[in-house]
Amino acid sequence: MGVKERGTGGGKKRKRKGDHPLPKQHEQMKKLAGTNGSIDLELLDCTICMNPLRPPIFQCAVGHVICASCHDSLPNKDNCHTCKTTGGYNRCVALEKILESFCVPCSNAEYGCAAKMRYHEVEKHGKSCLHAPCSCPETGCGFTGSTVKLLAHLTGDHKWRSKEIKYNVKFTLQVQEGIRVLHSRDGVPLFLVKFTLSPPLGNVAFFLCVDPHATAKRKFKCHLGSSCLATGRQQSLDFQVRSTTLSDGLPPMEDGDCSLFPSSTSSISVSIMEIEQKHFRQSLLPYVPYVAAR
Ligand SMILES: [Zn+2]
Ligand SMILES: [Zn+2]
Ligand SMILES: [Zn+2]
Ligand SMILES: [Zn+2]
Repeated sequence: MGVKERGTGGGKKRKRKGDHPLPKQHEQMKKLAGTNGSIDLELLDCTICMNPLRPPIFQCAVGHVICASCHDSLPNKDNCHTCKTTGGYNRCVALEKILESFCVPCSNAEYGCAAKMRYHEVEKHGKSCLHAPCSCPETGCGFTGSTVKLLAHLTGDHKWRSKEIKYNVKFTLQVQEGIRVLHSRDGVPLFLVKFTLSPPLGNVAFFLCVDPHATAKRKFKCHLGSSCLATGRQQSLDFQVRSTTLSDGLPPMEDGDCSLFPSSTSSISVSIMEIEQKHFRQSLLPYVPYVAAR
């Protein structure tokens, strides 16, 4: 763990009242100064909200540390929230300095992320880390990895067909039973399209976005067009593509994820575009299943 030693006192040891100098922080500093650099990271969490501490940090006379936000919202700042000691809270500059100099690896280090960051930045980084894992949806396969590695796995180990796409640019997909992987040049995120051919009822195209940050900021919509060779009838549909990490395998189809079109359709035109955040709540066109003309 990237721990830079700066010495624990820096020549400016602060004398405290009483003989109980911050037992918890003292323990933290001893661990930090150790040669293996290990530390119980929970010790760096606010004792009230349990979120990672970031400067400014406040402590009671005994050494219970809290974050600035909790300090601000305490109705009574004269007594420690934990031990009720009087005297209020003061800044804990020593721990602030440690936190500023202490770097931890990304929680996705095992998936190839080499980023290191301050402890309180871990969560923010994790929400957009390109190495965050998704799962292989093949039954019995336990592969997990970044979308780039998952793409290589799906096409290499499972021989899934893939296609590189550009956002907002129309492309054609041949209608063939099975799953195709669509990916942009950077491979983040992936899209799966599963065709299910059920003549004479029609063919279904089911779209999913494979995104390790499935609940986060990026959302996509799909514009899909088809024309029936037999009747010449054209159909187009816009829908938001559901995002998943595939941690529970391939989810079942839902109305709104898929489009039904006539069995005689041999190809569909597709374009995928990112939805601007300000439009997240705007409803897309309702799903209208195609009913084959008789
Ligand atoms: Zn807090
Ligand atoms: Zn206390
Ligand atoms: Zn990372
Ligand atoms: Zn697999």
